[in-house]
Amino acid sequence: MMKDIATPVRTKAILEKYGFSFKKSLGQNFLIEPNILSRIVDHAEVTDKTGVIEIGPGIGALTEQLARRAKKVVAFEIDQRLLPILNETLAPYPNVSIIHQDVLEADLKRAVKEHFSDCEEIMVVANLPYYVTTPIIMKLLEDQLPLKGIVVMLQKEVADRISAKPSTKEYGSLSIAVQYYTDAKTVMTVPKTVFVPQPNVDSAIIRLLVRNEPIVELENESFFFQIVRASFAQRRKTLLNNLVHFLPNGKELKPVIEETLSQVNIDGKRRGESLSIEEFAKLSDALDKVLT
Ligand code: SAM
Repeated sequence: MMKDIATPVRTKAILEKYGFSFKKSLGQNFLIEPNILSRIVDHAEVTDKTGVIEIGPGIGALTEQLARRAKKVVAFEIDQRLLPILNETLAPYPNVSIIHQDVLEADLKRAVKEHFSDCEEIMVVANLPYYVTTPIIMKLLEDQLPLKGIVVMLQKEVADRISAKPSTKEYGSLSIAVQYYTDAKTVMTVPKTVFVPQPNVDSAIIRLLVRNEPIVELENESFFFQIVRASFAQRRKTLLNNLVHFLPNGKELKPVIEETLSQVNIDGKRRGESLSIEEFAKLSDALDKVLT
């Protein structure tokens, strides 16, 4: 059997054969450790009933491991130079489709319909390009795809922010946005040495399991996120100050905001970072009644 794509020797041979040079601007840090790749696939619990969306297959290192266990893999790659390489490296895996597209512009709902109608569950599994980690995760969640979950490698610092609990310095609007849709857990930290070229930051694997029921029932979802963003706009400011300064017409509405905070028993002198998702939901529902 051919050596795994991810081994340092085979990766080097493939890169040399095609004269491939890494583009830092595309977040190209390829994995060269098959054990880490199989851990990612393990954490995603991929089976022969799973359809997998991969983002950024590179030269196919993770794609290969996914293809061996999944029913189907659909991988979005932005860099045209990788297409002939993937054509060769993934030739043994007929259950893989490569789509040459920026994933942020992709119609993922359509891709799911086209490719995964015979799959029982859909997972996103990827070693993400670090320059667009957050927009990619938010797109996957906001597109409301029928996903079971997302297991991705990303910067450790972003993984920490995503899975953070209230009253920690990592907790912020990203934690709330992701935890609103999913149960988030950092499952593993990963050393720089398993990539070529080595990234400047530490990495981690995060597992996001999409919730069947939302963690909180909201009257007005977009207003909830507006309240959350305003509450974290300046971390040193109190909750009341942030709401007054960063909600539209906040200054004129100060007395109403103060009154609403006291109605829901949330002290305006607290900082946004101390509020749980449930408290943000209570506050946003109450403010929604009087402000919108
Ligand atoms: N999966 C490979 C691995 O683990 O070795 C490569 C991962 S590398 C961190 C990120 C990959 O994402 C690169 O192949 C890069 O070209 C691709 N990429 C970057 N931006 C992208 C985008 N917006 N849409 C799709 N692919 C992208």
